[in-house]
Amino acid sequence: MQLVNLEKNGSGPFLKPLGNGTGNQAFQVVGFPAQVAFSLMSMGNMSPKFEENEGEAKRNRQSLFGLIGLNSQQQIWLLPEHKTKLLGVSQEQSGTTQRCEGVLTQSPSLPLTILPADAFPVIVTDSGGSFLLLFNGSIWSADCGVVRSVIEQTQFAVVHSIEPKMMKVLVGPGICPYCYVSKVHGQFRRKGSWKPCVTKDDHIDLGRFLVNDLIQEGIPEEQIYSVDFCTGHSRSEAGESLFPSDLRSRRTGEKDGRFAIIASL
Ligand SMILES: [Zn+2]
Repeated sequence: MQLVNLEKNGSGPFLKPLGNGTGNQAFQVVGFPAQVAFSLMSMGNMSPKFEENEGEAKRNRQSLFGLIGLNSQQQIWLLPEHKTKLLGVSQEQSGTTQRCEGVLTQSPSLPLTILPADAFPVIVTDSGGSFLLLFNGSIWSADCGVVRSVIEQTQFAVVHSIEPKMMKVLVGPGICPYCYVSKVHGQFRRKGSWKPCVTKDDHIDLGRFLVNDLIQEGIPEEQIYSVDFCTGHSRSEAGESLFPSDLRSRRTGEKDGRFAIIASL
C-alpha cells in the first residue's frame, strides 16, 4: 500500500499551518478539491462534553471556522453511532446535528464537522468538487462495512452517478497501530477480515483497513491521501501533543478532549 504523505509529497495535496500569530493552531489541506481544515491541541477542546467552562468548546470551534473564513452557525455536526447510516444534507439542515455515520452533500459552502476520538475522519469528493462525503471510520463502523455502504450509497445519491474511479479521498488524522491499544481489540483481531491489518506485535492498523476497503470499492490508490499524523503520539516541535486523544488520556490520565475537522465544497 502506497499512501501519499501530505507533508512530504510535492505534487499532491499538502498541509498549510494556520494560526493567529501565537503559533500553529490548525492545518488546512491545500490542493484537495474540497476545503478541509482540522484543529490542533493548541486551539483547545472542541467538544462540549469535555469543556471546563460553559461555551468554551463553541468558542474554540468559532475560532477554527474564523481561521478558514467559514460560518460556524452553518455547520452540520456529525455524531457517529458506529454503524453505516448515511444522510444526504443540504442548506436546509444547516446548523443541525445529525446522528449517523456519514453525511453527503452537493451544496457549496456547507461545512460538515466531526470531532474525532482517535477514529479516522474520511472525506470523499471528486476532482470537480461536485459532491462531498464525510464519514467516521472507527473500528466498529469499519467492521460493519461502513466504507462499502457509504460509497455505494453515494453512487446512487449523486445525480450524475459518480464512479469510484473518479473519487478522491482524504483519510485521517487518526490513531496509528503502535498507539492503538484498546480493550475491544481481542474481538476484532480474531476475525479473518481484520487479519491483514493486524501488525506483528498484535496491534490493529485501522487506517490500513479503511484504505484497503476504499481500494476494494474501486477508488484508485493514488487518489487516496492520508494525513500523516497520529492522534495518539504526534507532537509539535515544542514537544507538545498535537491532538487530544481518547486512548492516550485513558492511558496517561491526562484531560480528555476533542479536535475538530471541517470539510466544505
Ligand atoms: Zn501513534
